[in-house]
Formats: sequence, structure tokens, C-alpha cells
Amino acid sequence: MPTTIQTDTVLTALRRLGHATNLELYAAITDQLPQLGLTSLHRITARMVERGEIGLAPSDGRQVVLDARPEAHDHFVCTVCGGILDIALPDSTIDLIQGQLGRNLVRDGIVVRGRCERCGPLGAGNTASRK
Ligand SMILES: [Zn+2]
Ligand SMILES: [Zn+2]
Repeated sequence: MPTTIQTDTVLTALRRLGHATNLELYAAITDQLPQLGLTSLHRITARMVERGEIGLAPSDGRQVVLDARPEAHDHFVCTVCGGILDIALPDSTIDLIQGQLGRNLVRDGIVVRGRCERCGPLGAGNTASRK
């Protein structure tokens, strides 16, 4: 069983990061919890996800990305660096998307993919740019 100090430290660090892999989280808390191994951290975060204390962010599937916010919300994901941002799409937009989906249900948040500010538009064919 993880101690309260461990879960509190993990939660505080994740809230600061917003979204993080177990490895990133590990790097962020290892100063405060030098005794805690990466395997134990995996176990702690898996349990926290199970309990709904934290959530999972959309990822490329290669690694689990933890989300400080357990409730469903929308995301922007950079396809270059994998950076993840929380966004909040208006209901009208979600209704439009739902209209395309028929009986498939929008329920767990919408993911918009693109290039973040830091990665910038690459080469030609960047159709996503708008003011
Ligand atoms: Zn990026
Ligand atoms: Zn999020």
C-alpha cells in the first residue's frame, strides 16, 4: 500500500506537470521520494487511475500518459513532440462532431492533433494554420 505522503507527492507533482508519463513523474519526485522506485511509482499511479484520482491523457499508444484531471476533457496533442494541452471545446462543436458519429458516442473528450507552438509548422502543406 502506498503511503499518503507518496500519493500526495505524486498528485502534487502531476498537477504541476498537467500531463506526464510515469518516467517524467519519476524524475519530478525522486528528490522528494528517493526511496521510491520506478516500479512502485507505476503501481501507485495505476491504483490512482483505478480510483479515479487521476486520469489518462490521449497518447500515441506507446506509453501511458497520466493526466492530473480525472474527469473527461478535450485535448490538443502535438504530433511532433507529443506535447499535450487541455482544451475546452464548446458544446456546439461537440454536437457537430457527435452529428458525424451516429451511434458512436462522444463521451471521453475530443482529441485535436496538430503542431504545437514550439514545434511550429513544418514544410509545405500546413493547412492547420489559422489566426
Ligand atoms: Zn510540439
Ligand atoms: Zn488533460
